[in-house]
Amino acid sequence: MLTITKYTPDSLYEKLKNIKVASGACQFSRKKCAEIAPLINEINELKTQKNAVILVHSYVSPEIIYGVGDFVGDSYKLSKNAVESDADIIVFAAVRFMGETAQILNPDKKVLIPGELDGCTLADSITAEQVKRLRSYYPTHTFVCYINTTAEVKAECDVCVTSSNVYDIVETIENDKIYFLPDKLMGQNLQNEMHRRGVKKDIQYYGGTCYVHEEYDVEDLQKIRLEYPEAKVVSHPECNTDVCENSDYVGSTEQMLDYMRKEEAKQFLMLTECGLSARLQTEFPDKSLVGSCTLCKYMKSNTLESIKQVLTDPQPHHYVNIDEATRQGAQKNIEMMFHYVAKAKS
Ligand code: SF4
Repeated sequence: MLTITKYTPDSLYEKLKNIKVASGACQFSRKKCAEIAPLINEINELKTQKNAVILVHSYVSPEIIYGVGDFVGDSYKLSKNAVESDADIIVFAAVRFMGETAQILNPDKKVLIPGELDGCTLADSITAEQVKRLRSYYPTHTFVCYINTTAEVKAECDVCVTSSNVYDIVETIENDKIYFLPDKLMGQNLQNEMHRRGVKKDIQYYGGTCYVHEEYDVEDLQKIRLEYPEAKVVSHPECNTDVCENSDYVGSTEQMLDYMRKEEAKQFLMLTECGLSARLQTEFPDKSLVGSCTLCKYMKSNTLESIKQVLTDPQPHHYVNIDEATRQGAQKNIEMMFHYVAKAKS
């Protein structure tokens, strides 16, 4: 049973007052908290009435993460939370492919997507038809897809990976011919990491990118290092190879937070979506951020109002619908990820 927090304007302000990201565009005054607290409390009551759970990706706005979210994390962690929950309805405040992953693993639950902008530059960069064509060009390669793909694309690939397990899984796969999709920059980082580990594999990759992470460049990073020599630079493997090579730590969203939790440094430059910077400011108030972050318009299209709408009057486009054959194909792909994670550890 989840505990429902009832916020007063003051308690909400206490929770959100340290957040200042996106050049001040995301900041919470007492007045703003007084305006949104009643809607937050209304959503929390609706959740109980409908036996719903709200899963929130770290890139979604802070008032959703801390106001109404039951679980927060990256897509992999949230999908596991979805499996463990006994709720009838899953509201997945993130993007569609993440809601699809929750549906693949929870076929008997209703999964609703409140985000009004339907897309993701990375997941939308490749279709199932394109994967089929690539497989005909590379018939002996193992097709490895990032979790940031649609259910149809997952169903056409052999094994799924996340940014936290991609290196260990690719190293563990028996085949020395790998086709990685859809992220070009992660594919290049994968090649570099295999080289560093002394793993000899032919790694081909597709040309998709995440528009949020590809924006960072190494010149900006070096300028900030000169200004803040004590700051630790933390980046995501969807950033380009120069940026990753010049970072103090590269990891998935959850791994980045874990690094900052353990790291003694007090200043960080975070080369990822602004939502994670807001989590840092809320959860580690003794640490500070330098430089700026980038917003994902798809993630930020989740709002308190759209969450209330999916709980009270969901429209057909809010539901995740996957045909059963595709769902089973995608499920097999995700199960292969669990298989290789276990094998990599043994
Ligand atoms: S940050 Fe936005 S565009 Fe980039 S992979 Fe995530 S959802 Fe897609």
